[in-house]
Amino acid sequence: MPREHLLKIGVSGVRGVVPEFLTPSLTLHFAQAFGTYVGRGRVVVGRDTRLSGPMLQHAVNCGLLAAGCDVVDVGILPTPTIQIYVEHIRARGGIGLTASHNPPEYNALKLFNKEGQFFNQYERNELIDLYHQSDFTQATNAEIGYVTTDPGLAKAIHIDRVLAKVDVERIRRRHFRVALDAVNGAGSVMTPGFLVDSLNCRLDAIAIDPTKVFPRIAEPRPDTLGELAALVLKTGAEVGFAQDPDADRLAIVDENGRVLDNDDVLALAVQRALAVVPGPVVVNLTTSSAIDDIALAFGRKVYRTPVGEANVVETMQAVKAAIGGEGSAGGVIFPAVQLCRDSFTAMAFLLDLMAESGKTVSELVAALPQYVRKSGKVAFAHGRLGGLMQALEEGFPEAEADRSDGLKLLWPDRWVHVRASNTEPILRVFVEAKTEEAAEKLYATSWGLLTA
Ligand code: MG
Repeated sequence: MPREHLLKIGVSGVRGVVPEFLTPSLTLHFAQAFGTYVGRGRVVVGRDTRLSGPMLQHAVNCGLLAAGCDVVDVGILPTPTIQIYVEHIRARGGIGLTASHNPPEYNALKLFNKEGQFFNQYERNELIDLYHQSDFTQATNAEIGYVTTDPGLAKAIHIDRVLAKVDVERIRRRHFRVALDAVNGAGSVMTPGFLVDSLNCRLDAIAIDPTKVFPRIAEPRPDTLGELAALVLKTGAEVGFAQDPDADRLAIVDENGRVLDNDDVLALAVQRALAVVPGPVVVNLTTSSAIDDIALAFGRKVYRTPVGEANVVETMQAVKAAIGGEGSAGGVIFPAVQLCRDSFTAMAFLLDLMAESGKTVSELVAALPQYVRKSGKVAFAHGRLGGLMQALEEGFPEAEADRSDGLKLLWPDRWVHVRASNTEPILRVFVEAKTEEAAEKLYATSWGLLTA
């Protein structure tokens, strides 16, 4: 069985197929380790809509209570909403039960510190050591805590934070016609109300029943959003929104039924954010140079990090960024709402841009800096990785090299980024250039060097 199907205890928490790898007893012990680490006090627990969610939530609650924590059960909620609530109620931490865009048989524990942010590398390592040592706090009978239920406050707090950063009246006046696909995930319980009640949109929605299974591949991508694109065309919607099962990621369909490139979604959000808040921009090495052009127009600096939300977030915090994200992953991170990926901020930003400019989504995209992107995979034999990277670098001696995550080679008008997959002997190759011809040429030459 490929390694990615096994249990993974690492960067963003614990993840695996239920029940073969992520078992109830492992979940319980991990939650008890978490409770031991964050200490006695309240811990927020929420989840997406997977079938294994209620079973694993009981195990999480049990582990936390055993460690002497009190559990604040927020039920089914988007990941960013859970993170905001942790910070808002000054809880000790939080656990989100969601495997994000992974298939329905997966589940995972996303771990949040008292600021409602992903654990940083030091916190993760300490927690994992604690888990392996099994030296957990065991509450005495008199010390066992309580489970309380959130009365629905979390949603309102998240929505208020988003609305404070856009011109709500301007959006409401436009009475936008909007289509939505929430994949029957956690967005189902919040997104329709956000769009209709808060932003006065006319909504046509599919897949907003949290009691049903995911009706499509969970990751919102051009090839998985055919039904939403058809809904946009059928209803004459001005825009279509698609979320992943825990509603941190957003994909956008324009008024012609075309799914936007995720790099363009991030570029639009960066444009909106820089107009309203100070600070630099942080993106990963694979994100489009369109971000540099937009930042330059606002006189802001761009910081690049290795791929991975945790890396982007850690740098954003260090440089006090205005906004950040990862182009290819469809995540917009806007710290003025919360230092996490948030599909609600992304939706509000786009509607605000449309309301302000009077432009359609396709017109807004056409006005962005234009680049041609290409990507693909190259299989390699174990043991050859170092040699291949060296061959690539030597094939382009005139390029500037960045070795902080795989190898990125840059020229003033184009770049190629090559990284090894964490799970398979595969190199992912990304190329960006100003023209189709230049992108094709750089891709073909790189491919030749990597397969020689
Ligand atoms: Mg997600």
